[in-house]
Amino acid sequence: MAGKTGSTDLLLGVMGDPIAQSKSPLMHTAALKALGLPGAYVPLHIAPGQLGEAVQAIRVLGFRGVNVTIPHKIAVMEYLDRLDESALAGGAVNTIVNDNGVLTGYNTDGIGYVRSLKAEAVPDLTGARILVLGAGGAARGIISALLQEQPAAVVVANRTAGKAHELAASWQSAGTVSGVAMEDIAGIIPAADIVINTTSVGMYPYPDELPLDPGLLHKGLVVSDLIYNPLRTRLLEQALNTGCTIHGGLGMFIYQGAYAFEYWTGQAAPVEIMRQTMLDAFGVSEADMELLK
Ligand code: NAP
Repeated sequence: MAGKTGSTDLLLGVMGDPIAQSKSPLMHTAALKALGLPGAYVPLHIAPGQLGEAVQAIRVLGFRGVNVTIPHKIAVMEYLDRLDESALAGGAVNTIVNDNGVLTGYNTDGIGYVRSLKAEAVPDLTGARILVLGAGGAARGIISALLQEQPAAVVVANRTAGKAHELAASWQSAGTVSGVAMEDIAGIIPAADIVINTTSVGMYPYPDELPLDPGLLHKGLVVSDLIYNPLRTRLLEQALNTGCTIHGGLGMFIYQGAYAFEYWTGQAAPVEIMRQTMLDAFGVSEADMELLK
């Protein structure tokens, strides 16, 4: 199972800069323990100038795989042997799998998000009219995964309108996707079923910020926020007060990790244990979590 012949323990890790804040080691260590798999998942602080050598070290040290996080998700692609369809579609890699020295890059962010949205808020996305706020790295991955669910339409709105237009244009062949400026969302929200915030607006340390005017929200809308720090953003708070269904970013984090774990181990990830580990890390009980929903 390990990446290098001769070793049976699973060596796993996450490469980023900074990395001390990452909750992935906690979550994956709990998952390994739950399944009784010998191994370790360690934080790897890699500065941008060391990325090529760090990727080579995956082979040399016999790591079975690593996660890749900010700022390396795009830059790492050039050092890999193969890129899975998900990495090509999302334009970034967050998971590397080492098969006897051959490194394949995957992107589990988009499918992780959609699995979470379906499990926690909208079981069937067929025919849904979806408004995506933001056109950064996270938006790219999730739009690709959303389009596989046959929504009626996806509209991307961004502060820098040109990026929304570019993103929409790159997905024309996969579905009905259009790009607009953030100022234009007032005309779109009334007909939307789901609004997804993929911008960083409202994230710690600025939890009071809102990515849209909450007066635009309407009862029955599903409002989803990729941010998981705080677990319930101000946007979700406002949406709840308006009678919307809300969906936070913790599930995406758990499922992107679950997919990576499944690629490395070939076993079903212990999702509930991973979720409980994260709730514990945030100091939230399962009962409090019900109130957070
Ligand atoms: P990114 O590539 O830097 O993109 C940031 C996006 O936010 C851009 O669309 C940017 O618009 C917009 N934005 C930033 N500040 C803004 C402001 N003041 N007003 C309006 N728009 C603003 O970041 P990313 O990697 O896509 O991440 C975005 C968010 O997703 C972060 O909060 C991150 O924590 C979250 N995320 C969560 C998970 C998870 O597992 N739950 C995974 C990945 C990401 P411009 O193009 O105009 O700058």
